[in-house]
This record gives sequence, structure tokens and C-alpha cells, in this order.
Amino acid sequence: MLKTLKLFLLTITFALLGAFSAFAGEDSCGHLDFLNETGVSGWCYQNSQPSSPADFTLRIANVLTGETVQEIPATTSLSRPDLESRTGAESTPGFFVSIDWESLGSGLYTASIVSNGKTVGNSLSYHVSGADGQSGLLEGISSVQNLGNFRITGYCSCRSCSAGWGGRTSSGTIAASGRTVAVDPRVIPMGSRLLINGQVYTAEDTGGGVKGSHIDIYCDSHAQARSLPFQNAQVFLLS
Ligand SMILES: [Zn+2]
Repeated sequence: MLKTLKLFLLTITFALLGAFSAFAGEDSCGHLDFLNETGVSGWCYQNSQPSSPADFTLRIANVLTGETVQEIPATTSLSRPDLESRTGAESTPGFFVSIDWESLGSGLYTASIVSNGKTVGNSLSYHVSGADGQSGLLEGISSVQNLGNFRITGYCSCRSCSAGWGGRTSSGTIAASGRTVAVDPRVIPMGSRLLINGQVYTAEDTGGGVKGSHIDIYCDSHAQARSLPFQNAQVFLLS
């Protein structure tokens, strides 16, 4: 009786192992090639049947919260001559998935391929801008670090704000609103990309009055510089 039970348990164990290994056999590979304001393109196929169209989910996540904000079911349908040697001449491993970024609201998002419950390949980041500045692809963003709360002020190219520097920054660039901020380089390395209130800025200027946890945002006019809608903000370092 005991022997029968052991055999029974053993059979169950093997049946379960079999199920798991079959699942593992459904591994997919894929890649996101390109992302713009209308959507994302790439390719995906299942290793066990590379010549068949693959079902997958395109997952959009909010980078700051880690929250999944959209899951778009999709099936590959475009031919990819560059992959023919792997998937066969008749295969359609390519895809383009439309994304309505602006409907997600301002923020930083990543798109990635999910197949059989697993994330496959790379991810690409897209920034949806707030009121000023441009939305767009953020290349090479792999981490977002919260630097904490900073005092935020504004400045412009006038003599009172920039003491004769005009629109030229200390790093040699021409300052642009929606992009240029002045930082204390001992706190934030020059050239850093920073996310502040949904807007991506570049640390490319310094100033005598900008010390410690303080960021000075370049504005088009003195009036704008003196009437920023916020005096403090969480600052995120994108790298
Ligand atoms: Zn000014």
C-alpha cells in the first residue's frame, strides 16, 4: 500500500515537472527597436515555433511608481527580412503597436514586451511632457533615482538674473527654457538629466546663489522666472 502511494506521488511529481518544463519551452525572444509619439515597433517570436505569429502584451509602466498603466494585447504581423535566417522567409515576427501617450498624462513611462508572463528583451522610455517642453523618446534611461526635495527658483538671461552671462550657460551651451537648469555641481553632476514636476531638464548651468538642494530653472522672461508655479519639488535623476 505504502509502495503504491510512493509510486503515485512520484508520478505526480514527474507530471508536474513535465508541465513546468513544457512551460519553460514556451520561452520567447524579442526586442523593441523604435519608439515615437505614435507607438512602438519591434519583433517577438516563440523559440519553440519561430515561424508562427506570436501573441504578446505590450506593457506600459510608470517609471516613478513602478505601476503598470496600460497592457496592450498584440500579435506579430509584419515581415522582418533581417530575422529570416532565424524565423523563416514566410514568418511575420515584426510588430507596430499604437500608443496614445498623451492620454497617460505627463510623466515618464517605459514600454516592454511581456510574453507568457515574462518580460522579454529591452525596454524603451518615453517622456510625456507637462505644459511646456516637448514629449519624446528618452534614450538610454535605465534608472531613476529620487534625489529628494529641492528648493526651486527661476532665472532668465537679464542682467539682474545672469549678471552679463546673457543666455550663455557656464557649460557653454545656449540656455533654453524647458531644458536648462542651474545646479550645484557638488550635488548634481553637470550634464545630468533631471525629472522635475513631469518635465525633463538638463543640468547645464551653475550660479553663485545655487547651493545644495536648490535648482534654478531657466525661463524665457523675468516675469516667468519670478512667478514659477512651485517653490519646492521632488527631483529625480535619470541615468
Ligand atoms: Zn531675469
